Amino acid sequence: MTATQLKHKPNRRHYPPEFRLYSTVMVFFIFAWPFLASNAAFPFPRSAEAIVVVDPGHGGVDTGGRGRAGALEKNIALTLSSLIANQLNRKNDINAFLTRNDDYSLPIFDRTSKANQLDADAFISIHVGGGFGGREDSVSVFYNTRPPELEMSLQSDIQGMDSFNEWSSIQFFHLKQSRKMARIIEKELVRNPMRLKTVHIKEAPLAVLEGADMPAVLIEIGCIGNPLHEEWLKDHDFLSELAVKIATAVYTFLSAP
Ligand SMILES: [Zn+2]
Repeated sequence: MTATQLKHKPNRRHYPPEFRLYSTVMVFFIFAWPFLASNAAFPFPRSAEAIVVVDPGHGGVDTGGRGRAGALEKNIALTLSSLIANQLNRKNDINAFLTRNDDYSLPIFDRTSKANQLDADAFISIHVGGGFGGREDSVSVFYNTRPPELEMSLQSDIQGMDSFNEWSSIQFFHLKQSRKMARIIEKELVRNPMRLKTVHIKEAPLAVLEGADMPAVLIEIGCIGNPLHEEWLKDHDFLSELAVKIATAVYTFLSAP
């Protein structure tokens, strides 16, 4: 083999500069991949997604309140809850679920147990105010009060702590956060008042909230016995506006430190 022949023989040690660059980059990625992959997962880990359960009150034979023109609370609650869940699902980091997505009965404790099974970060039960007075243009945001037996156990000795373990008292552990969520919802609703101008925060013993092992509120919109409110509550645009506000408030609550 002559020197001339060698000169024309491809020499594998003399790769073009671009090839060497590509190889270096490839080797870097092969070794760095496990670290890059784990770091890339940090900004949006699956576990950081918040779960919200929206509960349309009543359903099936349990119609809830009935307006003079025939509107039923169970239907208004389902429409508004679906709109709230849709709004929340538009956010990348929230997954919203409904306790019922159609017109059927659902036992009260199945609602919170569904939220507990999903390990939800917030539970919102949607209702329409009853009664036929209807003078107040208002929304009520309820959070669950402490059960009386728990108050007693708090004032007695440590053995009274046994009652803490009762499932019906579980919401007590979230009282502060539930109140905080109620206040944020109030703030959002009064920020740009719509037809329902006043918002009341109320504390009450509510069976639908007591088994919720996460911050939980019940929102009562208007008064179905008031013909004007009934008109509004049948208006899809009005419900959509409300849904945006409630979803914004829930998102703010979940994003707050
Ligand atoms: Zn109701």
